[in-house]
Amino acid sequence: MKAYLIILIFFLQSIFSFSQKTAIERVEPPFWWTQMKNPELQLLVYGPGISNTVPEISRKGIEIMDIISTENPNYLFIYLFLHDSVEAGTFEIIFRISSSEEITYKYELKERKQGSADRKGFSTADMVYLIMPDRFANGNPANDNHPDMLEKADRSDPDGRHGGDIKGIANNLSYIKELGVTALWINPLVENNNPKYSYHGYAITDFYKIDPRYGSNTDYLNLVNKCHASGLKVIMDMVFNHCSVYHWFIQDLPDENWIHQFDEFTRSNFRASTIPDIHASEYDRNKMLTGWFDVHMADLDQRNPMLTSYLIQNTIWWIEYSGIDGIRVDTQPYSYKEFIKQWTSYIFLEYPNFNIVGESWLQKESFTAYFQKGTHNIDGYNSGIPSVTDFPMYFALNKAFNENDSWTEGLARIYYTLAQDHLYGDAYQNLIFADNHDLSRYFSAIGENYDRWKMGMAALATLRGIPMVYYGTELLVGGEEHKGHGYIRTDFPGGWSGDQVNGFTGEGLTELQKKAKLYLANLYKWRKNNKAISEGKLTHFVPENNVYVYFRHTEKECVLVAFNNSKNELKALDSEKYKECMQGYSYAKNIITGEKLNYLETLTIAPKSVLILELLK
Ligand code: CA
Repeated sequence: MKAYLIILIFFLQSIFSFSQKTAIERVEPPFWWTQMKNPELQLLVYGPGISNTVPEISRKGIEIMDIISTENPNYLFIYLFLHDSVEAGTFEIIFRISSSEEITYKYELKERKQGSADRKGFSTADMVYLIMPDRFANGNPANDNHPDMLEKADRSDPDGRHGGDIKGIANNLSYIKELGVTALWINPLVENNNPKYSYHGYAITDFYKIDPRYGSNTDYLNLVNKCHASGLKVIMDMVFNHCSVYHWFIQDLPDENWIHQFDEFTRSNFRASTIPDIHASEYDRNKMLTGWFDVHMADLDQRNPMLTSYLIQNTIWWIEYSGIDGIRVDTQPYSYKEFIKQWTSYIFLEYPNFNIVGESWLQKESFTAYFQKGTHNIDGYNSGIPSVTDFPMYFALNKAFNENDSWTEGLARIYYTLAQDHLYGDAYQNLIFADNHDLSRYFSAIGENYDRWKMGMAALATLRGIPMVYYGTELLVGGEEHKGHGYIRTDFPGGWSGDQVNGFTGEGLTELQKKAKLYLANLYKWRKNNKAISEGKLTHFVPENNVYVYFRHTEKECVLVAFNNSKNELKALDSEKYKECMQGYSYAKNIITGEKLNYLETLTIAPKSVLILELLK
């Protein structure tokens, strides 16, 4: 009888161990580097029953500091300390299952690239071009569909995948360069293996892998290298507030507290104002931070220290691996602000001259400023993020040229926005834009009026901040947000073989589109080499009589920018009024017409136009 029982137990055990066959499916980060400033490394090991193993490493210079398992037996977190003495190369991690059973995993430490820490991020000298990769150019139709990816390409569906990819961007760098662009911000390229709406990139299913419908990790690395060789910087779009419900670690959570969970689906109230608001209720602030962005986007709880390390290491991994020059961080206010601060401090520890722009989509200057590095916040908060998206300026630029001037409307909108720059840690670092992938395209927003469009583009090129232009803007592409996001993210003309109009070659463009492209390119190519714009201060004069004048100036250079917002009247500038900026300059170059002006006393501006003069001595 006893013998039967023993056999039965042995039999059940073997079934149990068979069904629970211990294995390793993933180790993340997939590899790491020696010579990093932060000597600590968290390895996430994933696989059935992995928490029942004991990992061992016998490699000089590597010490296991801690081993932590979670409530889910499929996870094991190993904390390594990498001493200075550690050499690059592959080493073995032995996962002991029993005295006779073990799994060996080979992990690689690469040598940190020379000069990697010294890279200089994007700056006020740059002009950023925003690309939605699925909608820019289809360089490789063979990757439009992938057997492992749920959503298949359907170019007829505005919300479907259209097939644009990394190769499409790489093929058209010379076109982009020709616009005066110096930096690319590409919407997320990492895997979004979702059944629908997978093209926009903001519902990530794998933080370490480029979506195969865009290319491979190597293709991304090659794109960054090619951009650098062409004099273009690359800004990677990163998302930490949420990820897809189809993400592998959401489907099998390490711990319940990796995400915010509710009995019933709870959406964020999208009121980022609750974060700086000194009167905000806990109810509202919690809803803002813990509510989900959408039903298919799980809201990550970055208060979990393992998740925090995971996300920080993921960022460092991409910077070190791909050589990018900057990051645009999605939905900055929606992540816990303490996490953002910690995240930035680790990035700048490894890359002191790097740059980051935070998407702070807020209505008012004081709200936006709260999220920028160096702002004097009442609670002492300092995000460490050097640049923020300047939505208040976006609102001003979308209204100013459509309106008649009054005390607060028309040009006064730009004036009042700038007059609040004292709120920011450094408003000169703000990312300024007239539209983006979430907003109505500028040409539509200003009533498809070419004169107003020119005023907007000139403002972006000359105001303080880092200008960003959304792909297609140079060809006066329109699109209204209320019709659906697919309509503001239309395919770039010429990006698909068989397109009747080709923006890249100029074939089929209207005369106005050709003029617009040239206008924008001339402006931004000039901006690229102008120190008064990229390094100078801004001095402005209260708008009067439909005219708004500001100067950008260093000790040696000065640029005059004047807007005439009236519909019919030619306006004259009284140089006496502006003498504090114009003194010492006797002639000028009109940077739009190329014309040289020998006198500065009698300057005039045509109605609904902008005058940009480089003042000369
Ligand atoms: Ca493709």
